[in-house]
Amino acid sequence: MGRKSAMLRMNKSIQALLTCPACHKKLHVSDSQLACSNSGCAVIYPVVNGVPILINEQASIFSIDDIVSSQKAVAAKSADKMARLSDATRFIPNPNRNVGARKNNATFLDCLLQSNPNPRVLVLGGGTVGEGMEVLIQSQPPVELIETDIYFGPRTMIICDAHDIPFPDNSLDGVIVQAVLEHVVDPAKCASEIHRILKPGQGIVYAETPFMQQVHMGRYDFTRFTHLGHRRLFRKFEEIDSGAACGPGMALAWAYEYFLLSFAETAFLRKTAKAFARFTGFWLKYFDTFLINKPGTMDAASSYYFIGRKTDKTISDKELIQQYRGALKVD
Ligand SMILES: [Zn+2]
Repeated sequence: MGRKSAMLRMNKSIQALLTCPACHKKLHVSDSQLACSNSGCAVIYPVVNGVPILINEQASIFSIDDIVSSQKAVAAKSADKMARLSDATRFIPNPNRNVGARKNNATFLDCLLQSNPNPRVLVLGGGTVGEGMEVLIQSQPPVELIETDIYFGPRTMIICDAHDIPFPDNSLDGVIVQAVLEHVVDPAKCASEIHRILKPGQGIVYAETPFMQQVHMGRYDFTRFTHLGHRRLFRKFEEIDSGAACGPGMALAWAYEYFLLSFAETAFLRKTAKAFARFTGFWLKYFDTFLINKPGTMDAASSYYFIGRKTDKTISDKELIQQYRGALKVD
């Protein structure tokens, strides 16, 4: 490995912030490893291709060894094979349409810049670019993104697990977590970690999490949230905005595809059913432009978003249920 590829993919001021995911004490940082400064913990975290793997193995479902070997597997795949894969799927229409992401990222950016002219933002699940995130990426500087994920994506700077975020209390201006919290075993723990690392009175979270979506990451897929369930997850935050990000049209396209997939038991039939569903059902997503702000969508969306500010006030469950915005009248 050349000296250059081994250099950490982040500047010194971010390196100086990093803490041990197991005990939250400072890390001694070098280009080849990060060592916990706490003699009672003393865990050493490896760096692979400039990406430190900051996983608390005692608590995480991921192990450092598995992550390191997954990097070797990715590197072993030839560029040719990747190109052929993308060729085969290029012409299949996509059933996904995130109506809210662009506007929400812009709102998030405005709020960040109001609090700090040089906001530092942690991206959880940032191995690849999230929907609508271009507005943040293009705003560097003054925005500084710290892009993390659980795997080696093209943009991953740090590998960490959202259950144990390797940053100190009250240290960051923003956290963006799109399409991630359904894949964590304990979303409440992750939300409390997000709250912990944000600056009091000014730190902003932008979360986007599915409601009506089928399993999409195999064994790493655990939970869905209604609008209010999602609001409760972030009950220690003051709401800036919330609503549906992906609408009921996309939800129906997914339901149709997974309905057909449930008949198919071989890999070939599954591939055929998926392509058929996408060619015949992709257009359903276009209804979401009209439906996204309707009350009925608050009962039926593919995903919901929440933008909030860290405060010391927690919304009570009595206040929570007053925030129902759906169409069902139940006394
Ligand atoms: Zn430690």
